[in-house]
Amino acid sequence: MSEIFQIAVDGPSGAGKSTIAKAIARKLDIDYIDTGAMYRALGYKMLQLGITEEEPDKVAKLLAETEIDFSKGDIILDGSVINDLIRTPEISMKASACSALGIVRKHLVKVQQEMGAKKSVIMDGRDIGTDVFPNAKYKFFITATAEERANRRYKELCEKGENVSYEETLESIIQRDYNDSHREVSPLRKADDAEEVDTTNMTIDEVVKYICDKIK
Ligand code: C5P
Repeated sequence: MSEIFQIAVDGPSGAGKSTIAKAIARKLDIDYIDTGAMYRALGYKMLQLGITEEEPDKVAKLLAETEIDFSKGDIILDGSVINDLIRTPEISMKASACSALGIVRKHLVKVQQEMGAKKSVIMDGRDIGTDVFPNAKYKFFITATAEERANRRYKELCEKGENVSYEETLESIIQRDYNDSHREVSPLRKADDAEEVDTTNMTIDEVVKYICDKIK
């Protein structure tokens, strides 16, 4: 049997982690796991049910009753595909808020560890190299300036027909950077042994090639 290994891809919102990780997964023929989508799925369900971060008992019950999985590139919440429903600015903020709760992180980190223990994976998020797989064989920390990340996210949202302005998008990126790096539990930080890749002036193809060369 060939060796099982993990590739951790962390970094702030909008740095291109998921596009890069997806492309690398295809090249290496391994599974891609988008952990942000898992926090988004939970945030989506909390909004649907009107549950707030100030109600830990309800959140704990919800976690016990919720199933989040991936199948053929789709994110599945309790049996339904929810890909597009979780890619809105509202869900981005809700995911950031609910991801600061210790019980939420503990639960989802465990699910992620189980997903990455059975087969080789490339996983993207904020805490993969620090908490989910501290012993991952490869670790990358992908960054870009807030302005460049807002630019990319704004274009993506416009293409999807979302009615947002560049200023709002930049503000949301700065707010989420702040939330993600100042929360008490697992704040966003580069693992000491992760390699930082600043993609501000790089194309996606250049980043993918750079990382694949490191992995070979
Ligand atoms: O990566 P994405 O923007 O989809 O993640 C949504 C939110 O989920 C992030 O702003 C962050 O607060 C949270 N998240 C996290 N840990 C992860 C992945 C995402 O806290 N591993």
